Amino acid sequence: MNPRALKQRLESLEAAGVTQIPRASGRDVWPTADGTTSAAGSAQPLQATATATAAGDRVTSLRVLAEQVATCMRCSELAAARTNTVFGVGRADARICFFGEAPGADEDASGEPFVGRAGQLLTKIIEACHLRRDEVYILNVLKCRPPANRTPEPVEVSHCRGFFERQFELIAPEYICCLGTTAAHALLQTTEPIGRLRKRWFTYGTAKVICTYHPSYLLRNPAAKRDVWDDMKVMMADMGVDL
Ligand code: URA
Repeated sequence: MNPRALKQRLESLEAAGVTQIPRASGRDVWPTADGTTSAAGSAQPLQATATATAAGDRVTSLRVLAEQVATCMRCSELAAARTNTVFGVGRADARICFFGEAPGADEDASGEPFVGRAGQLLTKIIEACHLRRDEVYILNVLKCRPPANRTPEPVEVSHCRGFFERQFELIAPEYICCLGTTAAHALLQTTEPIGRLRKRWFTYGTAKVICTYHPSYLLRNPAAKRDVWDDMKVMMADMGVDL
């Protein structure tokens, strides 16, 4: 485990009152598409060849980027209708990023991602992973709410690409969890269905990437919660945490 990971893990355990750590047990791992890295994952560009940025620099750089997002007018329809841009929330040096689609009404009103019903479910998922919401980083592909929560248009994704790529570059997470089709397609630049992207590891820069169902999908299809839990168990096992 790298020093950043170790420090964060020990801080979390200490906050939870843990004073002794058991020996690690065996890990559950997924196959990759081609034995090492999937085709979509290895095709990824990204500047996220992360030279680890000092924590303070990351916070400052993310703040500057958030200010740029707040004045962005590239998607005129979305910019005209928004109450707030929704940049992202969490630790600037988080080990895990949860990557969603776009703000909904609650997020547009508050300026924070994943605070509505789907967000509450995401928070439960994060907590079930023995993590707190403020220990991870949560962001979306789009920073503005699409009208009536429609699926983002490709041109809108392209307008926001520089923003989310820079967020990943600055945070340099070890893991990115893509929540649903839009996030997975935007990050991995693939068109494979989400069902085929699950249960495989991808890479994006230096991050390991998994794809799972979006919490909104789980609200409509509660039976799929088991699948998401299976995905979380694999990611957490890879981080050295048995759930
Ligand atoms: N759905 C998303 O993808 N992101 C949010 O912030 C809220 C709902």
